Amino acid sequence: MVKLPEKMNKYCPNCGKHVTMSVKQEKAARRKGGMTAMARREKRSRRGYGNLGRFSKRPVTQTKMASKTSRKVDLRLTCPDCGKKWVLSYPRTKRVEFVK
Ligand SMILES: [Zn+2]
Repeated sequence: MVKLPEKMNKYCPNCGKHVTMSVKQEKAARRKGGMTAMARREKRSRRGYGNLGRFSKRPVTQTKMASKTSRKVDLRLTCPDCGKKWVLSYPRTKRVEFVK
């Protein structure tokens, strides 16, 4: 678990000065409209009988992800003056706690 302050005095490249920005964890983006072309292809290949072809193999990304027990968190700084969001460094952790 990582403890982070709720507010940080950071430089805003848009305003060109240091401001107290609020730190928030960005929620995982959900894909709109459902399946990708590749996902449709995989579904078609998986139905019924026969060889799954290239989908018989487990994707490398999945095996890599399974070997890790934590994920990188997406942290964003919001500027109160211009409302822009800036990316903060992303620690690899399971949980983030905001301390006042
Ligand atoms: Zn700003």
